[in-house]
Amino acid sequence: MVKIFPAFGNPTPLRLKVHPDYTLDYITQRLVDFLKIDADEEVILVHQGKKLNLKGEKNLRVQNIDNLTLCIGVKRTNRRVYLRKKLAESKVLQIKEEVLKKCFTHAQKYVDKEVGGLLIGEVAEDKLQITNSVAIAEGDSVSVDLDPVKIANKAEELRNGKNYVVGWYHSHLRNGTSMSMRDILTQLAYQKLYPKTVALIIDRAKKEVEFFRIEADQLISLMKILLSKPMHGVAICLRKYPLT
Ligand SMILES: [Zn+2]
Repeated sequence: MVKIFPAFGNPTPLRLKVHPDYTLDYITQRLVDFLKIDADEEVILVHQGKKLNLKGEKNLRVQNIDNLTLCIGVKRTNRRVYLRKKLAESKVLQIKEEVLKKCFTHAQKYVDKEVGGLLIGEVAEDKLQITNSVAIAEGDSVSVDLDPVKIANKAEELRNGKNYVVGWYHSHLRNGTSMSMRDILTQLAYQKLYPKTVALIIDRAKKEVEFFRIEADQLISLMKILLSKPMHGVAICLRKYPLT
């Protein structure tokens, strides 16, 4: 039995029965089918902090491997999806003010670069509660790449604790807090690992942040917060959103 832990979400592993003939290639194909991976997405398997190389280790027998961490990489692509924007309608999302400030401070530190990171938290009492964030990368003026191996490593680090990766954030230097096509494709990929994943976009100049999810082909704006206004500790999404 090999355990495969998705990088996003409550760390319940996918369990794969191991047959002596299974190879890394075979596992990857199983995951591609299971997660319905698109042509512009890539299954990334990380073992003890290191990405398994499908080409170099193609014939690696999986019985030699214990736990794997799974993330999805999104390649540069022309794929487009068209979504209508909608306000959310069911349960609750919460984020601590100090966590928002931490993400915002990361964005503020780099005047001419987009920055990105992960949102850490848990689902408790039907609420998605974001309790921490971790910086992952700085990009350039138009984009930032969140390395799936770094995401997987962070998820592995968190594995035995109460909290796990529940979303990601990045800053925009232009276009406000609206989701770009690449942002949408990235969010769709992460939601395959954990359907409750949220995306947070930071507009550093306007001091605004907005949370998004994609549901039933609609881009759902969960919550928009003006950082120039006091938050009183925890921001709560009063427009609810479906968690199940
Ligand atoms: Zn973006």
